[in-house]
Amino acid sequence: MTKVLIVGAGHAGGSAAALLRQYGFEGGIVLAGAEPVAPYQRPPLSKAWLKGEAGEEELLLRPESFYAEQAIDLRRGVTATAIDRTARTVTFADGTVETWDHLILALGAEARRLEGKGWDDPRVLVLRDMADAEVLKAALGPDRKLVVVGGGYVGLEAAASARALGAQAVVLEREARALSRVASDIVGNFLSAYHWRRGVEVLPSTNVLGTYGGQNPGVATDGAAVFPFDVCLVGVGARPVTALAEAAGLTCRDGVIVDDQARTSDPAIFAIGDMTRRPAPILGLTDVRLESVPSALEQAKQAAAAIAGRAPPAPEVPWFWSDQYDLKIQIAGLPDGADARVVRGEVDPAKIGGGFAVFHLKGDRIVCVEAVNAPAEFMGGRLMIQKGQAVDATRLADTAVPMKAVAT
Ligand SMILES: Cc1cc2nc3c(=O)[nH]c(=O)nc-3n(C[C@H](O)[C@H](O)[C@H](O)COP(=O)(O)OP(=O)(O)OC[C@H]3O[C@@H](n4cnc5c(N)ncnc54)[C@H](O)[C@@H]3O)c2cc1C
Repeated sequence: MTKVLIVGAGHAGGSAAALLRQYGFEGGIVLAGAEPVAPYQRPPLSKAWLKGEAGEEELLLRPESFYAEQAIDLRRGVTATAIDRTARTVTFADGTVETWDHLILALGAEARRLEGKGWDDPRVLVLRDMADAEVLKAALGPDRKLVVVGGGYVGLEAAASARALGAQAVVLEREARALSRVASDIVGNFLSAYHWRRGVEVLPSTNVLGTYGGQNPGVATDGAAVFPFDVCLVGVGARPVTALAEAAGLTCRDGVIVDDQARTSDPAIFAIGDMTRRPAPILGLTDVRLESVPSALEQAKQAAAAIAGRAPPAPEVPWFWSDQYDLKIQIAGLPDGADARVVRGEVDPAKIGGGFAVFHLKGDRIVCVEAVNAPAEFMGGRLMIQKGQAVDATRLADTAVPMKAVAT
């Protein structure tokens, strides 16, 4: 019987196991992950779950009973330590050795930490998994002080959730504005202003030096100000978990290099999710890192289809979402290479929940849409990126022209 071993039981690995069965694969499936829980979704850890609006059950990708019902051998709390490509085995930290015919690596990414003065203080946290989130949640509450280092999505979401719990929050960002790597200045500045209006100080161009400890801890910066905290969250990005793949000789370059079927440089080994560097053919990119649930799911489909002998799934437009306060931010495509942009709707942080979208154009084609409480713009923009459809910029900017009419 053909056997698939999936190492890493997160969003990508858990989805690949389920999809293999959905696609009719009848061989053995072992799904082995380091965490003590069944596969779960990470996005709520900085949003609904952190605010206490979702329980642990709601985090799970599938009910506990699913794995036994589908003859998926789910092994929790097991950490892979070595891959032998010739013997086709994976060794785990507890000494067990598992064989495979197809290996899917789904090891995700790990939160970057800061090194140096005081960053090892136990009140300084990162947010990557449920264990991290539980520590953060326990530290938040009315009048607690949260200092977030890094104005990226995870940091801003955690700050918004902290406010919902009655805590005070400050976000310290090294760059000239929040979300500088992942959103346009229009969206980044809008979100900063939205946070300020809800009592979160988002401070750009603020370089942190370290923390000072003791009874009254704080973050020291290169300016005069220090920022006292009860809890500090370092949200400065994540790095792909590639050590195992590198040691096994798979081609890696800030991520395991995979093709559009999620195959690594060894055709018997697939890699999916945050650990990969992958093509995005619709955007004309051969080599990009995408840390998002939709990307993990797309690659889970690619690997499962290849193993189950099905036709490769059609390429998807990369997309991502974030929830902050009453805002839903949805982004499709990437702005790289865009030469113009069109704003549709009013960008006004004083308007509660007011929707707008920023479209990034290359010639007369949309390559990226950033939508804030604008689901029709997001859907329409994503569809036009998918189809590579030409767009009339004047009609696109005109909210009197319904999005459906622009997109056809
Ligand atoms: C707080 C937070 C909020 C997020 N919000 C959003 C969002 O709003 N929208 C969005 O699209 N994306 C969001 N993301 C990103 C999204 O969660 C990831 O893209 C997704 O989880 C990637 O899935 P993955 O399976 O590749 O990695 P993971 O889900 O991280 O799973 C990897 C698993 O592999 C395990 N593992 C690692 N090494 C080993 C080993 N040696 N042996 C065995 N197991 C191992 C890990 O313990 C982990 O369980 C968020 C992420 C975080 C942390």
